Amino acid sequence: MTKIGLEIHCQLTNLQSKLFCSCKANYREFEINENICPICMGFPGSLPRLNQDAVKKATMIAMALNCSTPEKIAFFRKNYFYPDLPKNFQITQLNIYGDTSIGGTGFVIVGDKKINITRIQLEEDPGRLIYEGSSSKNQITLVDYNRAGTPLVEIVTEPDFENPKQVRDFLNILSDLLENLGVSDPSLEGAMRADANVSIEGGQKVEVKNIGSFHDLEKAVHFEITRQTSLNSRDIKIIQETRHWDDKRKITVSSRSKEEDLDYRYFLEGDIPWITIDPEIKEALLLEMPESISSKKQRYISNYDIPEQVAAVLSSDKFYSDLFETAHDESNAKEIANIITTDLMGLVDTRDKREQSKITAIHLKDLADVIQSGKISRNSAKNALHEILKTGEEVQQIIGKLDLGNVSDESELSAIIQQVITDEPQAVEQAKSNPQTINYLVGKVMQKTKGKADPSLTLDLLKKQIE
Ligand SMILES: [Zn+2]
Repeated sequence: MTKIGLEIHCQLTNLQSKLFCSCKANYREFEINENICPICMGFPGSLPRLNQDAVKKATMIAMALNCSTPEKIAFFRKNYFYPDLPKNFQITQLNIYGDTSIGGTGFVIVGDKKINITRIQLEEDPGRLIYEGSSSKNQITLVDYNRAGTPLVEIVTEPDFENPKQVRDFLNILSDLLENLGVSDPSLEGAMRADANVSIEGGQKVEVKNIGSFHDLEKAVHFEITRQTSLNSRDIKIIQETRHWDDKRKITVSSRSKEEDLDYRYFLEGDIPWITIDPEIKEALLLEMPESISSKKQRYISNYDIPEQVAAVLSSDKFYSDLFETAHDESNAKEIANIITTDLMGLVDTRDKREQSKITAIHLKDLADVIQSGKISRNSAKNALHEILKTGEEVQQIIGKLDLGNVSDESELSAIIQQVITDEPQAVEQAKSNPQTINYLVGKVMQKTKGKADPSLTLDLLKKQIE
């Protein structure tokens, strides 16, 4: 049986500062090597100061993933020499003196499969290496330390996945969960990275490192299963090794023999004391944690009778469920959920579009009002939505400007219907003998009014006028 285990690195992008200094956690807006200080550059004599908020947010992640949370946590030095690591060691966590990392064993349910979490640890991100030249013969490597020291949460799973699809489903659940907790924005470049262990039936474990996004993680796992299966079918031995994901060629390449944990010469970080996380702090964090996606979904179904599929889509997306929460009340919840999931999600489907869109909860509320009161059709509402996203104007203003209002004036509608009756004598005769076919005439009226005729009034008037 194929076994896949994951090590996911998730940046706590929503924090103010780095893990051990006051440089910004959001390093992305800086010029190269501007977001640095003596602490994250590891200058002699500088001392780390632990970011309390990072400990809290990482604990929240642990609790959301059903992990045990120890009373005391400790930090360790993982020693290795690499240009992206200015101190020549990374401050991280390790469970050698009992469970002292921020989260112990936990689990996530993916479909009907339980994926066990081995542990969660809080650590610092290294700097960023930039290679100039082709990947086969790099001539220059540049280092940007803006990222060095950024808070990172590592989530390690048991090798419980059996195929790439389970991996993808898990990643979707995980990134929705992190976003819902408000701890990380998974859509930021480099915010989610991963390593994977892949072994096929009877083969050795192969580690794939350097996977820069969740999207590529699924591809890398798929590639590795195919590669190993192909070797196996030709009776070539699969060796235990570390391979790197080549992001440009979308393949894994052999890199070096697997390091054992011992090579890192872990020892306790003497500059950071053991930290006690009191039960009261955990209780307070539980209260602070936002409603979980599954409980949100259940509430949408039971309180507003929203169909399960719609509730699932709406609750798993923080941006849209936040909009929904502010916009809805008892009377319009179903309509607003409908506008968001059928129209809005299709129109605003990228991070950039979300940032640029001018839509507010008030727009959604007003839009639901005019649909429910029959002032505009659903079709016109979609046109209004386009305009709202572009201009941010009020719904009433847009209806006037684009002339989207339903034709509900009886004499105006009667005149249009009379015209249709004159134009379609055959259809009128047919409708008289077979009332079902009247829909054809309703359709003609809709065409003439560009979909703006009030449908029930049109039907009533048509029936009267063809008699
Ligand atoms: Zn710093």
